[in-house]
Amino acid sequence: MTGEQVTIVLANPRGFCAGVVRAIDIVERALEKFGPPVYVRHEIVHNRFVVESLECKGAIFVDELDEVPDGRPVIFSAHGVPKAVPAEAESRRMLYVDATCPLVSKVHREAERHYKDGLQIVMIGHRGHPEVIGTLGQLPEGSILLVEGAEEVAGLEVRDPARLAYVTQTTLSVDETAEVVQALQERFPKIRTPRKEDICYATTNRQQAVKDIAQSCEALLVVGAPNSSNSRRLVEVAQKLGCPFAALVQRAADIPWEALAGKTRVGLTAGASAPEVLVQEVIDAFRARHEVSIEYSSTPDEDVAFKLPRIVAKVTAAA
Ligand code: SF4
Repeated sequence: MTGEQVTIVLANPRGFCAGVVRAIDIVERALEKFGPPVYVRHEIVHNRFVVESLECKGAIFVDELDEVPDGRPVIFSAHGVPKAVPAEAESRRMLYVDATCPLVSKVHREAERHYKDGLQIVMIGHRGHPEVIGTLGQLPEGSILLVEGAEEVAGLEVRDPARLAYVTQTTLSVDETAEVVQALQERFPKIRTPRKEDICYATTNRQQAVKDIAQSCEALLVVGAPNSSNSRRLVEVAQKLGCPFAALVQRAADIPWEALAGKTRVGLTAGASAPEVLVQEVIDAFRARHEVSIEYSSTPDEDVAFKLPRIVAKVTAAA
């Protein structure tokens, strides 16, 4: 197949979202301000390449706060943390910086508001995902019922069907979530909906960009990590639209060349935590085997940016 002409259709937008840029920036600025090592609780974002780059600069990733020595700063990941985590940090008088994405924090505040209003909350999300653990942990145990799919709605046992609200994980499939919401609204017509959509702009836009190109491609590759929720959803979106082959690759070494044999039009995108350098690495790997031309999808660019926490805002990030 070497030398064959292949068109790569690049989805736009793809890759880093504003929450991921902010989280990485926080770690880099904290390293500059406090000097290494700076501790980070959990993967700052779900991408090994990003984590390893930060490790090279002096970040140390840990599972829990008891692994952080006294006197060293610790950063909480972009996915958000249960309230017990900052509480523990405060009780130990630790210096911590919260890199929770503001759009995840918005869901936290929303859940708290419903709870204060005396409503029971249903969360649509994936069991065990750090963001879901963080959101459930904003309120006393048992305050939030979790559903993963529409088929689970019938089995929900609620306190009062008229006093319910729902929130969602920010990185879900837009279409599947709509099905779960519909099932909830059919069973509980009075359930309160989020004031503003919980699935974030980055998730929505990246899924739309895949929808725009998937049907015109014989295959689609998503650069992203297996534990990245929004990246996995992009593969599913392409599959649901009938794209004959869609797969997640962490980087060029994972490209499934055998499955791509004979495919001359390949879509390419990246999850919100995957850096553009890995997309370029994939393109270079194609160029090493094929005559490559690039086509760009025409979705408008994003211009979302989030403010940094004050404690690191005034530091000039290292180049
Ligand atoms: Fe924030 Fe969305 Fe990015 Fe998650 S995917 S960090 S919610 S902008």
